[in-house]
Amino acid sequence: MAEPLFERLVIIGIGLIGSSVARGAKALGGVAGTLVICDASPQALARAQELGLGDVYEADPALAVAGADGVMLSAPVGAYAALAAAIAPHLAQGCILTDTGSTKQSVIRDVAPLVPAGVPFVPGHPMAGTEFSGPDAGLPDLFQGRWCLLTPLPGGDPAATAKIRALWERLGAQVAEMDAAHHDRVCAIVSHLPHLIAFTICGTADDLADETRQEVLQFAAAGFRDFTRIAASDPVMWRDVFVNNKDALLEMLARFQEDAQAMARAVRWGDTDYIEDKIMRSRKIRKSLIDLKQA
Ligand code: NAP
Repeated sequence: MAEPLFERLVIIGIGLIGSSVARGAKALGGVAGTLVICDASPQALARAQELGLGDVYEADPALAVAGADGVMLSAPVGAYAALAAAIAPHLAQGCILTDTGSTKQSVIRDVAPLVPAGVPFVPGHPMAGTEFSGPDAGLPDLFQGRWCLLTPLPGGDPAATAKIRALWERLGAQVAEMDAAHHDRVCAIVSHLPHLIAFTICGTADDLADETRQEVLQFAAAGFRDFTRIAASDPVMWRDVFVNNKDALLEMLARFQEDAQAMARAVRWGDTDYIEDKIMRSRKIRKSLIDLKQA
């Protein structure tokens, strides 16, 4: 077996994404000589140990990162500023810091100023997930065939970026690089807005009069069921995503509201051509996703 990419890799936050990285790293090999698992939740850490997700388990992030050549933050993005402050003085020279957070401008804002000189920081975001959370939810092949977006800092270390790219490729992902602002706008439309709509529609159904609400649950049709699946996602993680990608999310929401109003007008006036055209365009998007194997 070739040398592992990292001698000692630390994953901080062993939820859905962190535990999928750990499982993939173990299953595929060649990622980490020693895998250190750290989590603020004693239950999550104990469960990770029971599941054998790593080699070393450490609750204190400052102790966990000592002597590591790779550190991956995988906690909710709202925790990053405090985490970065806790680990920064303990990061070894040359250690590569990366993350999996769903927002990138906020992560760079919160983490980059605290990272010591000589520690390259390569922000990342795997575009894969499920509605489940915690260490039991991870899957070794979660990233197979999916995209991982890296948003390297201007003037960053290309060798460090190449190593993080290699890590994700080893886990089966395809890697693309873009700037953080662009990432946040793309993810606002493809991920954050759909979640906001799902949480909202489930809230609307829940606010209906009692007997209607009962029928919503009893006769839930495929459309509503699909929304409830997305809406079952972790509240802390998504709360943090929304408030940390506020500008892009509000911009996409405003555009969506305009388009929804236009659809409402077409329904009111019986503009069937408009309605049919919108549905046809949506079907094309679905077909393109299937063709690209991202459905
Ligand atoms: P998750 O399943 O909810 O797990 C997060 C873990 O981090 C939990 O065990 C949590 O403990 C722990 N944690 C919270 N604060 C911490 C801290 N200060 N230090 C150490 N651990 C801490 O979340 P996830 O879905 O894996 O998401 C992890 C990251 O990946 C997030 O930044 C998210 O934006 C990103 N991401 C998520 C998805 C997705 O679909 N879920 C996809 C791509 C990227 P507690 O349970 O005690 O809070």
